[in-house]
Amino acid sequence: MLESKAPEAVTALDELSEESSDPFRVLISTILSHRTRDANTTRASRQLFSVYATPQSLAEANPEEIERLIKPVGFYRVKSRKIREVAAVLLDRFGGRVPERMEDLLSLPSVGRKTANCVLVYGFGQPAIPVDTHVHRIMNRLGFVSTKKPEETESQLTNMLDRRYWLELNDLLVRFGQEICKPIGPRCPECDLLKHCPYGRARISGTDGSATR
Ligand code: SF4
Repeated sequence: MLESKAPEAVTALDELSEESSDPFRVLISTILSHRTRDANTTRASRQLFSVYATPQSLAEANPEEIERLIKPVGFYRVKSRKIREVAAVLLDRFGGRVPERMEDLLSLPSVGRKTANCVLVYGFGQPAIPVDTHVHRIMNRLGFVSTKKPEETESQLTNMLDRRYWLELNDLLVRFGQEICKPIGPRCPECDLLKHCPYGRARISGTDGSATR
């Protein structure tokens, strides 16, 4: 049902991984994407990888040059330092390759579960569920889970969902969350899932106090 309303827009990670599923690029793009619009993540990633496409070249890059290339993303100065540090750790501890095991990914600086899961899905094609704010919000609104933290949502979803759905779930829900089930002002009246959605029904009926939003 989600597919009938899926918008044309493609998420940054989906678009970038179509161009290259190199796990290193996926890792760096995911770090760049934090608190940043998709279009800016895509632009910054393309600019960066046109000059620094390997851990070695990025680790040796001039930080100010990295800043210039990734300037479209939010917090570009901090992220410049972070991605350079990640590249250096990959060289130092993993032979210049992105590790494929969750525990190794989580040992990298600036890498939490969402980023690690993105690398597994978009870089290695492994079934995993990256839970970002969209996935967390939508699954709670629909009542699939009742959780406070994305980590809890990931844990519940991996227990309840067949693995064959894991790979595509993030991309599907991120797009759905950007276009229909927005953080503020979700488009409930035109949503195919309304009749299955406790949050949407309460909102439409005004019992959540937001009928006018
Ligand atoms: Fe989101 Fe509203 Fe659809 Fe529920 S009905 S999934 S809250 S857009």
